[in-house]
Amino acid sequence: MGRVGAALGAAPIPHCPGIWVCGRYAVAVLIDLHTHSHCSDGTDSPRELIRRARAASLDVLALTDHDTSDGWDEAGQAAAGTELRLIPGMEISCLYGRAGVHLLAYLLDPGYPPLAAELEAVRDSRASRLPAMLAGLREVGIDITEADVARVSTAATSMGRPHVADALVGLGVVRDRDEAFDRYLGWGRPGYVPRYAADLTEMIGYVRRAGGVSVIAHPWGRGSQRTLTADVLADLATLGLTGIEVDHLDHDAAQREQLRSIASDTGLVVTGGSDYHGTGKVDHPLACETTDPEQFERLLAAVP
Ligand code: AMP
Ligand code: ZN
Ligand code: FE
Ligand code: FE
Repeated sequence: MGRVGAALGAAPIPHCPGIWVCGRYAVAVLIDLHTHSHCSDGTDSPRELIRRARAASLDVLALTDHDTSDGWDEAGQAAAGTELRLIPGMEISCLYGRAGVHLLAYLLDPGYPPLAAELEAVRDSRASRLPAMLAGLREVGIDITEADVARVSTAATSMGRPHVADALVGLGVVRDRDEAFDRYLGWGRPGYVPRYAADLTEMIGYVRRAGGVSVIAHPWGRGSQRTLTADVLADLATLGLTGIEVDHLDHDAAQREQLRSIASDTGLVVTGGSDYHGTGKVDHPLACETTDPEQFERLLAAVP
């Protein structure tokens, strides 16, 4: 990465993002800014995640559990003294109008009171809807209890749909999380119960005031292309949004190209990340998507 590379006397190769030349050696710099641990809906402990990140030769890893900083301490301890640079982050459940939007936030103070209150409201609402979700599932003949969900979510601060999905897999009702969402947990399905989410524009301000930077996760994944138009993204940039996660497996090549051009028009930073969830999300291995080191430097430079 830039500063580390420069300190080593390495130089970037123009047009080869992430590749630095140090003497006779070319060095790849790997930066994954979107991962989950079992503190939300991933399946690895933070320590295990750090072990895997090092095994994958990552230089920078952001831990971005949903609506919680619970994994930061353990991840920090596991990364201390290693060559891996850990970026504490989270993925905050927000709403823009009626559309759900995930906001990645990095290097923020999770104790900043207005932010902490919003995160708690999201987590409380996720957890308190569980009985209603299970009642909906029982109405269609699925014999599932809170104990079944608790068994698969030992470390999570709030049990949500991914944990119910895992419980349904455990009961042999569905094959995987995707099938659970498609048949039972997605909008309009028997187990669907809405929950609270933070207001996106308000949250962008809170993250900034909490000393962090924010990036919209997979902005055009799952149909949100209609909501987060180029104009909306430009407005959000003026409100303090720092970047958009362009390189995510939910985006195809054409979407990435358009998003890159929006980023260059609006000054938004372009990031990438795997959205790794352990075995909780198939085909999203660590470092399958990464962030260009120069974009990462821009992200760090935007920290207030
Ligand atoms: P909740 O916060 O309880 O509503 O659960 C939402 C979380 O479930 C999201 O943040 C995703 O991580 C995950 N999720 C949403 N849709 C799907 C899906 N189709 N397949 C697997 N996981 C999903
Ligand atoms: Zn997740
Ligand atoms: Fe997400
Ligand atoms: Fe995610």
